Amino acid sequence: MSETPQPATVAVHAGRPPHEADQPLNEPLTMASTYVALGDREYGRYGNPTWQAFEDALGRLEGGTALAFSSGLAAVATVLDLVGQDALVVAPDSAYSGSLAQLADLEMRGRVRSRLVDIADTDAVVAACEDAALVWVETPTNPNLDIADLARIVEAAHAAGAYVVVDNTFATPLVQTPLADGADIVVHSATKYLGGHSDLLLGALVTRDEELAGVLKGRRDLYGAVPGTMEAWLALRGLRTLHLRVERATANATELARRLAEHAAVERVRYPGFGAIVSVELAGGAMAADLLTRKTHLWVHTTSLGGVESTLERRRRWKLEPTTVSEALVRLSVGIEDVDDLWADLSRALDDLTV
Ligand SMILES: *Cc1c(COP(=O)(O)O)cnc(C)c1O
Repeated sequence: MSETPQPATVAVHAGRPPHEADQPLNEPLTMASTYVALGDREYGRYGNPTWQAFEDALGRLEGGTALAFSSGLAAVATVLDLVGQDALVVAPDSAYSGSLAQLADLEMRGRVRSRLVDIADTDAVVAACEDAALVWVETPTNPNLDIADLARIVEAAHAAGAYVVVDNTFATPLVQTPLADGADIVVHSATKYLGGHSDLLLGALVTRDEELAGVLKGRRDLYGAVPGTMEAWLALRGLRTLHLRVERATANATELARRLAEHAAVERVRYPGFGAIVSVELAGGAMAADLLTRKTHLWVHTTSLGGVESTLERRRRWKLEPTTVSEALVRLSVGIEDVDDLWADLSRALDDLTV
């Protein structure tokens, strides 16, 4: 192995027991609520070897210290709680609905103030940073797939003394490692690509700052949003093939985005040129979008994303979805199936909308 292994090698090898006789190749599931006293862990809420194996692997991929949480939103809540009373949080006006709903809830209860911005409008974001305590970035955003200029945002936010937090769920550490670009905290819904098989809920935070990592772990210890052992184990198993899944799904998504752009039923394709999410806005509006989700057979109508199987959903069917997302938008989570099979199913369903 070279001095600095490539991400594919890290994904396969990180977080394993030492290569010693009789050691298992994979970190086992350690089902324990407590440990014999006077060690490093003491109690099940403070740590677990199986969580730690997942955290080691994710930390290596993102370039920091990782902490697993019970879900992506548990991780989000832990970050938003870092700021002081009445502090200003800048966030994208279209981002994952749950993150924005948490922020709105905190604001409603007088805990923080928020300023929502178009994250792709860098001048507007920079201007908004001035008196911020925390700048929330999602890039690409869910589901509009807007891209942020992270370098300029980091510069402006740090000049204001604000934390920069990047939700890296969509890009994955294979595409971007925000800590290397100066971000303070990376957030993941490991429920999505890291797990990759639509069979678990898990969240994670990653930071390079050891003091900050200690603060975040202290919050996890105290408030108890700890991961399930089985979930951490499954997510680590999923992580072993992250690079293969993302590569194949991205190739499929790139091809489908190209074909979708030529279909008469599609008014607009949103695809940033990487990753495996493609959003389409249909010419026939919300009704056509709902119809599409009922007409596919291979593509499953379901929420969530990032699994090996292709799924689709009209996001505005959710009350919490921001109005910056079009009523006619269908988010496609492209899986790792055969691309022609995917297109045959999708194009037949789209053809049905235009006749
Ligand atoms: C799903 C999602 C979350 C929330 O994660 P959960 O694991 O569902 O709690 C946060 N951010 C993004 C971008 C997501 O897609």
